[in-house]
Amino acid sequence: MGKVNQGALVAIVGRPNVGKSTLVNRFVGERIAIVDDQPGVTRDRLYLNCEWGNQEFVVIDTGGLIFEKEDDIHTAVQQQAWLAIDEAEVIVFLVDGQAGLNPVDHTIAKELRQRKKDVILAVNKVDDVYNEDIVVAEFFELGLGDPQPLSAIHRHHTGDLLDKITERLDNDIVLDKEDSLSIAVVGKPNVGKSSIVNTLLGENRMTVSDVSGTTRDAVDSVCKHNGNSYTLVDTAGIRKKAKVRYGIERFSVVRAIKSIKRADVVVLVLDATEPVSEQDQRIAGMAQDMGKASLIVVNKWDLVEDKSSRTMNEYADEIREKLYFMSYAPILFTSTVTKKRLHSIFELSQAASDENQRRITTGLFNEVLNEIVAMNPPPARKNRRPKISYGTQVSVAPPTFVIFSTHPGLIEDPYLRHIERKLRENFGFTGTPLRVLRREDDKRKKRGQARRAGQYGSKGTDITLDEARASADD
Ligand code: GDP
Ligand code: GDP
Repeated sequence: MGKVNQGALVAIVGRPNVGKSTLVNRFVGERIAIVDDQPGVTRDRLYLNCEWGNQEFVVIDTGGLIFEKEDDIHTAVQQQAWLAIDEAEVIVFLVDGQAGLNPVDHTIAKELRQRKKDVILAVNKVDDVYNEDIVVAEFFELGLGDPQPLSAIHRHHTGDLLDKITERLDNDIVLDKEDSLSIAVVGKPNVGKSSIVNTLLGENRMTVSDVSGTTRDAVDSVCKHNGNSYTLVDTAGIRKKAKVRYGIERFSVVRAIKSIKRADVVVLVLDATEPVSEQDQRIAGMAQDMGKASLIVVNKWDLVEDKSSRTMNEYADEIREKLYFMSYAPILFTSTVTKKRLHSIFELSQAASDENQRRITTGLFNEVLNEIVAMNPPPARKNRRPKISYGTQVSVAPPTFVIFSTHPGLIEDPYLRHIERKLRENFGFTGTPLRVLRREDDKRKKRGQARRAGQYGSKGTDITLDEARASADD
């Protein structure tokens, strides 16, 4: 599991209302989704991390691709949608089997054929499995091969579609990632990403080897610093300026998503002479969603320093306010002109990645959890007070903790954030997001059922810490 095709992208295209978002939601349902009820900011999600078989990939609903506010929203949407299609390894073109073939389907099909992309034509809303062949017949006309019938609502053939997707991803040969920390330098156009990457590579460059990561045209660069090896992700996209294609500079959200997905650490570059923008928030949100270690770099600090117009503290305050959900990320002020603090990117990235990979033993975690709960138990709701019995760390990257309790649904997000804050006070976790999830205490529930069924004495309501640890460790 894991390394294969990380960052591979599957784009779902189709007219409005054909069922794209329903299908994407089904994909979530088809995998074990432990991170999905994470608390925190809700941002509209453009993409979804998926796992099927041995493959990991990102699914993008191109209908949801609205990025910056523009005068003409439709142009912006379309532009980002086509960028997504250009970047995608596999495209699922979804049509509506109940509505039948539509002129717009022909237009989309023509565009897709011209782009010579690998397209899976999928016919949704084929709820009646006995009539599949009849329903899909007319869609052969689109010239995109065999239509795959499915019903997103009834989950018919959604697994078949996932099989088809992963079959195609299998054809992409993937090199194992080298044993080096991979860093994605991301941010808006013109903030200084290329200058930073070139400086970092500068004297340290080993190869701009085509460590073609996972994706066909991504070229990573490997360099050494103080004896450690670092991979700068998708430097091709950064170093060669992307061609102007749509009139304005081509900034691809999707490209950023892919780089972030493949990296261990995300370096979000901001321009010191500009306020933190919505686009910055969006990129930061992706890094947070994907559970990546992160670092915020405020570049072009020389321009501010010259005029002494703002202090670092002032700018940091603005960042903390606008990127409030990323309070864990260290902030570094750099300049590619003076080269000040630039090389700290390596050390801070390594440190953030170490925290992202950190494990707290179940014993230690429960000691802290007990203290948190004793000082400040979860508030009662609807006359019921959830009783937290124990917890355990279930994964790293990002560190993810599950707490078991009665009535977990009554533990609300502010309380989970309180736990997160306390965990950070106790353990640090600088540079990495954390997840705190709540789960029903099954043991307690089962005992309750057993007791009601008369199989259990009235004693032993409380699970002991030892039991908790035993069950958490198994
Ligand atoms: P999108 O605009 O392409 O994202 O489409 P939505 O996912 O929002 O779906 C549009 C409508 O089609 C909704 O009312 C869905 O409930 C419905 N729909 C989606 N999948 C199916 C399906 O498999 N069968 C039927 N009958 N309706 C579906
Ligand atoms: P990218 O689009 O994010 O890759 O940005 P570039 O690296 O191409 O930089 C955009 C512009 O900002 C170029 O003209 C750079 O010379 C300039 N620039 C980059 N870093 C700095 C910096 O630290 N200070 C100043 N004064 N200019 C910078």
